[in-house]
This record gives sequence, structure tokens and C-alpha cells, in this order.
Amino acid sequence: MDRLPSPLTLLRVGLAVFVLVWIFGPYALRSAVPIWLPFLIALGLELHFFVGALRPAPARRPDPGPQTADRERYGFGNDAEELLLVRNQDEELWIPYSGETEEELQALIVEARELPVEEAAPAATANPDRERLRLPVRRLVAGLGLIGALALIFWVVEGRTGWNGVDASTRAEATARFSQEASRVAEKPVTIRCDESGDYVGAVQHADGVAAVGGNLAYLTPERCLDLYRLALKGEVRPNRTATAIVVLAHEAWHLRGVADEGTTECYALQTGGEIGRRLGLSVDTAQRMMRRQLVDNARRGEASPAYRVPPDCRNGGRLDLRPDIARFP
Ligand SMILES: [Zn+2]
Repeated sequence: MDRLPSPLTLLRVGLAVFVLVWIFGPYALRSAVPIWLPFLIALGLELHFFVGALRPAPARRPDPGPQTADRERYGFGNDAEELLLVRNQDEELWIPYSGETEEELQALIVEARELPVEEAAPAATANPDRERLRLPVRRLVAGLGLIGALALIFWVVEGRTGWNGVDASTRAEATARFSQEASRVAEKPVTIRCDESGDYVGAVQHADGVAAVGGNLAYLTPERCLDLYRLALKGEVRPNRTATAIVVLAHEAWHLRGVADEGTTECYALQTGGEIGRRLGLSVDTAQRMMRRQLVDNARRGEASPAYRVPPDCRNGGRLDLRPDIARFP
């Protein structure tokens, strides 16, 4: 049992792994769980363990084996050797035994008996309450230190690499570019904002973007903005993420144009996404391939979020085909 990691250790390792996977891992985790949640849970559990450790320990059942004091006195650990109990009048002696002969054993017994008998006073318990507090407090401080360190890593990495790490004027330039593309789709001037505060879109709202149907303002998550910025201003492409970000931008633009139904909106977004991608710097081939892939993924994702699944009419020559005269789809 001693070899198993304690619940506290497991909790800390678990938190560290989770935060690192959240920062560097798949986007799906990011969009599913807000980052403050594991921190909050870890903090709660640290306090729970701390309070638990402050309560008086339950009475221990008497241990039939050699007591700690005996072990300390004769200088043998738990599993070094067997201990032999020798009764000698009123005295009980624990003799370490590892196959000695009768004579050697006698010598050990004599040796043990000659050790000065002194009740080992528990070390320095001048203030037992303070002693009892010391370990839990030290553990709590270590736990809080770890939580703080992880929060710091998160803050630094996100600040450097995320949308917030892009300087303000570049962000303004990028969002102006997104707004321009959305306006073309919406056929009126509209504004795209990146929701840095997380007030409108993101993990809590389970959405990558939000727009009022027929309105003129839409919000995208910082993650989607970052991927669009990488494509538009730096020419960087990360196949799946870039494609998804383009579709999200197109999707919100179609809402602004006045389309309410999610499936229809998504179908239109997949068809205009190719052109947005090209205008932001993709080759014709890449843009088309990405949107075809997104259409396939949509069917697969549809089981999880049926509202966003494109309707059966979303096909070449179907009712929702924006260019029925062209054989290509989307
Ligand atoms: Zn929508």
C-alpha cells in the first residue's frame, strides 16, 4: 500500500497533465472544457485534503508486529529481515533474524538485552498542535505552489502563442480583413470581432462564433481568429484548423446576411468557404480540398450536433446548391 501514490500526488500529476494537454493538445479539449475548471477542482481538492489532515486521526488498531519504537531502537527497517520475538521474564525483545545459528542468535539476544532500556521520547513535541499542523500546511503550500506554477505557465504560453500574443495593431488589421470577407458574403458592411474576453463565444457557450441573424456584428473565438490571422497575414496553414476557421467565419457571415437555419447556414458556409480561403491566400486546389473535407467531416460530426448537420439538399444540383450551373460541390 505504501508504494501506491497518494490521492494528493495523483491529483497534482493529473492537474499538471491536464493543463499541459489543454495548452498543447487538440482543440477539441479546449472547446469542451474551460481552463479555469480544472484549476478550481484542484484548488477545492487541495483544501479538502488540508482540512481532512487537520482532523484528529482515527484511533489506530494495535499493531501486533514490532512497534515503531522497537524498530528504531534496534535499528531495523520494515522488510530488512525477519524479527524474532524473544520473551525474557517481563521483557520482550525483537531480534532481527536472518538465518543465524542458535549460538549467533543467543549472542544477538544478549546484545539486545544489554542495550540501555529507555523509553524513546517522541522527538521534540514541545508544541504538539504546531507539530501536527506542520505537515498539512507544508503540503498545502506545495499544492498551491504547483497550481500557481501551472497558472503561470498557462499565462506565459498563451500570452506568447495565442491570439492575445499578437500585438494590438496587427490584431486590428487582421479583424478588418475578416470583416471585409464577411461583408462580401453578407452583401453589406459587417464587423467581425474576436472575443478575447470570452463573454460571447467559447468553451462556456459551446460555440466558435456567434452572430445575430440579419445583424451586422459577429464574434469569433480567439482560437479561430488566430488561425485566420495565420493564414491571412502570415500565409501559415494548419489543414484542419485553418479549414474550420474559414467555415466558422463564413457561417457567421451567412447568419449576418439573414439565414437562420443552422444546417442551411453551414451548407452555404461550406460553399463560400472555398472562395474566402482563396482570397486569404490558399491555392484553388487547397481551398476546394479543404471544403470537401469539411463537408465529409460535417456528416461525421452531425451525430454529436445534429443542428449543424447540413440537410440532404446540400449537394451538387440540390436545393441549397448556390451554383447549380457548376458541377463542382461544395
Ligand atoms: Zn450558427
